[in-house]
Amino acid sequence: MVSGPSGVGKSTVVNALAERYPFYFSVSATTRRPRPGETEGIEYYFVDTDEFVRLRDGGELLEWAEYSGNFYGTPREPVLDRIAAGDDVLLDIEVMGAVQVKASFPDALMLFLTPPTIEALEERLRSRGDTPPEDIARRLVIARWQLEVAEERFDHIVVNDSVEDAVKRILRILKAPHTKADR
Ligand code: ADP
Ligand code: 5GP
Repeated sequence: MVSGPSGVGKSTVVNALAERYPFYFSVSATTRRPRPGETEGIEYYFVDTDEFVRLRDGGELLEWAEYSGNFYGTPREPVLDRIAAGDDVLLDIEVMGAVQVKASFPDALMLFLTPPTIEALEERLRSRGDTPPEDIARRLVIARWQLEVAEERFDHIVVNDSVEDAVKRILRILKAPHTKADR
C-alpha cells in the first residue's frame, strides 16, 4: 500500500514504479468529481453517493474512508482475485484505509510517501492546478496529521524528493520487504 498526503506525488511515483515492477493497481471507487485528464476506470470509478453507499453496504468494499468531503473505497473482489493468483497488488489509499487493510492483511507492506517539506507539498498541490484553494488548505491540515500517524503505523517512510530516487528506494524495499532500513 502506498499512502501519503495529497499532492506528495503518489500517482507520479506509482506510475514510474509501474514501469519497473509488475503489480496490479487497484482502482478505487470515489464520489469525487473527475479532474481534467482523469478517465473512468483508470484513475477511479467515479460514482454518485447512492452508488457508493450501495457498494459499501453490500460488502463490496475492502475498506473505505471519507476524505476532504468525498468517499473513497477499494473494490474487494478484484483485489482478492489478484492476491489469490499470487500477484502483487498496489493500493493508493489514505492513512485510515491503509490501517484497516493492514488489520485484515498483516503481511501487507505499508509505505508512506512524504514530501521533503510542507512548503514543497503546498507548492506541488498548487502547481497541479486542479485543486481549489480551500481544498488545498483542507488537504494541508490533513497532511500534518497524517505525517504523525505515519510515523507510528507505517512500515517505511519514503521521501519523495526526486521521483527517480523515491522509486529506487521503493524498489529496494520491495526486494527486502522485511527490513526497516529506509526509516
Ligand atoms: P498525489 O497523487 O500524491 O496527490 P501527484 O502525483 O498528483 O500527487 O503529484 C502532485 C504534483 O506534484 C504534480 O504536479 C506532480 O507532477 C508533482 N510532483 C510529483 N513528484 C514530484 C517530485 N518528486 N518533485 C517535484 N514535483 C513532483
Ligand atoms: P485524490 O482526491 O487526491 O485522488 O485522493 C485523495 C486521497 O484519497 C488520497 O490520499 C488517496 O490515496 C486516497 N484514496 C484514493 N482511493 C482510496 C480508497 O479506495 N480508499 C481510501 N481509504 N483512500 C483512498
